[in-house]
Amino acid sequence: MQVPTEITIYLSAVLFLLGACVASFVTCMADRYVAPKRQKRNDWVAGTKPQSFKMGTRELLFGRSKCDTCGHTLGVLDLVPIFSYIFLGGRCRKCGAKIPARCLMAELTGGLAYAAIFLKFGYSFVTLEYLLLFPALLGLSLVDLDIMEIPDGLLIYMGVVFLVFLYPHGGYLARAKEALIASLAFGGGLLLISLLLDRILGRETLGGGDIKLIYILAHFTGVWCGLLTIFCSCIFGLLTVLTGGRRKKNKEFPFGPSIAAAGGLALLFGQELVDLYLSLIL
Ligand SMILES: [Zn+2]
Repeated sequence: MQVPTEITIYLSAVLFLLGACVASFVTCMADRYVAPKRQKRNDWVAGTKPQSFKMGTRELLFGRSKCDTCGHTLGVLDLVPIFSYIFLGGRCRKCGAKIPARCLMAELTGGLAYAAIFLKFGYSFVTLEYLLLFPALLGLSLVDLDIMEIPDGLLIYMGVVFLVFLYPHGGYLARAKEALIASLAFGGGLLLISLLLDRILGRETLGGGDIKLIYILAHFTGVWCGLLTIFCSCIFGLLTVLTGGRRKKNKEFPFGPSIAAAGGLALLFGQELVDLYLSLIL
């Protein structure tokens, strides 16, 4: 079926906006998830008795967004992704406090990712699958950047997305088999390497969350794109360290965002990159 170009352009624009909205929502959720944990850490550092406050699922999903500085509840006009950031000059409407630039970055990433997924995979189940996968990758990246933790809930969500779309893909037995091989090879391989490194260096090298993430992500990427994911995430990780992403105190740095970005890149352009590579060496 030939779809007119105007409709493709229109739908890409709609998906860009949808992606920006989804990213904006995910950023809020990540902030709400992180807030109690950060508070706990600050209390601990300050030596005061940690006040435990838990964020319920309901609050996490449906709470109203507020300005971090003045507590002003954000209205509809403050919540239009990208545009409200630009029109308000990256500041709170009420108190003028700076809104973190990462909100804008996340929204732009979401918009571009959604438009790219649609343009690449068109009207297919793969498009739907990746549109659902993206929020998890973004969410875990934001949380990992903030508190060096990859929430298990998001990894489980990714697993559910994979299972739900296993059937619509067709040839599901072959896909399940490749997923199993890739996840055991990469997840298991990294687990062995990290255990070995831990032994040699006498400290934790790769976080458990990172290994679980690679294990789950390998279900989606399969073998070849999985290799590409590992390769790219090492490069991105190196860039993170070089650009100052490493925490000075304990020499740790959040690896989740690198893995998520590499996985996203491999899922979108993996086949082209692998073909290019194979044509160069064969
Ligand atoms: Zn404010």
